[in-house]
Amino acid sequence: MQFDERSLKESVDLPRDHTILAWHPQFVKDTLVDFDVIIHRGTVVDGSGQRRSFVADLGFREDRIAAVGDLNGARAKSTVDAQGLVVSPGFIDAHVHSEIALLGGRDQMAGALQGITTHFLSPDGFGWAPLSQAQARELWRYTQFAYQKMDHLSLDWPTVESYLSLFPGNSPLNVVPQAPHCAIRLAVMGWDTRVATDEELRGMERITREWMDAGAVGLCLGLDYSPSINADMRELVALARVLASYQGVFAAHMRYQVLGRYGAWQELLEVSREAEVPVHASHERVDEAAQAALDRVEQEDIDLTFESYLYPAGMTHIAMLLPVDVQDGGIDAMLLKMADPAVRRRSLVHLKEQLGTVGDQIVCSTGSGRFTGATLAEAADKAGRSWEEFAYDLVIEEEGHELWISPWLVSSEEKERIVRCTAVHPRMFIASDGGYNIAHPHPRSHGCFARVLRRFVRELGLLSLEEAIYKMSGFPAHRFGLKDRGCIAEGKAADVVVFDPVRIADRSTWQNPVQTAVGVEWVFVNGIPVVASGQPTGHLPGQVLRRSA
Ligand SMILES: [Zn+2]
Repeated sequence: MQFDERSLKESVDLPRDHTILAWHPQFVKDTLVDFDVIIHRGTVVDGSGQRRSFVADLGFREDRIAAVGDLNGARAKSTVDAQGLVVSPGFIDAHVHSEIALLGGRDQMAGALQGITTHFLSPDGFGWAPLSQAQARELWRYTQFAYQKMDHLSLDWPTVESYLSLFPGNSPLNVVPQAPHCAIRLAVMGWDTRVATDEELRGMERITREWMDAGAVGLCLGLDYSPSINADMRELVALARVLASYQGVFAAHMRYQVLGRYGAWQELLEVSREAEVPVHASHERVDEAAQAALDRVEQEDIDLTFESYLYPAGMTHIAMLLPVDVQDGGIDAMLLKMADPAVRRRSLVHLKEQLGTVGDQIVCSTGSGRFTGATLAEAADKAGRSWEEFAYDLVIEEEGHELWISPWLVSSEEKERIVRCTAVHPRMFIASDGGYNIAHPHPRSHGCFARVLRRFVRELGLLSLEEAIYKMSGFPAHRFGLKDRGCIAEGKAADVVVFDPVRIADRSTWQNPVQTAVGVEWVFVNGIPVVASGQPTGHLPGQVLRRSA
């Protein structure tokens, strides 16, 4: 592996070059140097969550960490002065809607600039392979609230490998495959709103195996989304059993809309018990319902983890607040039902109950671009409609392409209490649930990981630096079987971030969310810098990280 000479030259010319001791633009023959890169005198936080930070040098050879210790006198092609900076494993975001954004566009570097080196694929079970092109287009249309435009892509991925081949050479970050339940069910059953037959179950098991054979770390589901919302316990257990033989993880956006928060948690625990697989709850928080489930997890010794973004608001499509039978069946079926006056009447009653009394939801994006950045109260006022009428009509008018931020419907004291309980929970690790190339995204997209270090470590002191970094690197790596990631040690992958612990901060806010984080100086992905002196380098060294058995 060699650095591209031209890009290295550009790195040298970057404005904040005081952190660079020497970054040799000329390629030096391997025999003349000991390492490709040496990071000098950083404060190493190794990602284990066990060891206290220590000052050391790191030496990389190609895509590996070859030495950790005192490398004084050793020669390297490139050196970085990390004195006063923290050197840690690159962060891992295990739930993020980024896989299209990683391939180009405004937000391609939003993760890297927070110190992230690896993103997971298929959050909420969204994915487009293996599907026919026509089915992939239908699922894209359904998920475009989270992924925006994909018309520059072929959407022609008849096999898992044809989809995974998009990333090497095109992405700044590594990607980790998960089997996408929405795509798997769509491939076998279309948008049918019923339980699977035995034969259909075998079909879904076969595709799940195709993903697991390609190195997926587990199955990801979105049980509030079509067509996954129709999966019964039998289907969940059957697919979970496929994972057991691969040591895969069953990761779910749980079935909140049908079962409520308490019931949804209990269903996940039931899957774990029945199928004997490790389970993981997506974008969760420790409120009363979760606490009841987490108590049961301890009593029954259930193998469960969950992740959180630690902001007191979610982000999803407005259609999720419609009665389940109305939103189910794909976009065309939903819009057809919504045109019925009787459906409208009962949906408005349902919506009114779900919208709360504050009106502080924020419109993130719509197909037409209208209302973005406005609150529900402002937008409905402008449209001259009640909140529930506005929400209902927006789904129709935008043909299902509408996304918003929805603050939790509890008091601000309760929000703060829940976020703090969640931040310190030992089974929780950090994941952003970010969405990209969105007009007015949730601030977590550009800020989640940097905010943990600013707010929960530096300002509140709720987490030590070692604990926070473990929750952003070693913990998710260990949970999903990524054995050479999430850890600073000899022989591990050179996925490394160098950041200023005093300066690192999110800048994205509810009002102004598209602002990159600050304080991240260097980010190496497989030994190649994607961020150098705080600036993107343009390198695209991301690889597909497959489950290591
Ligand atoms: Zn979700």
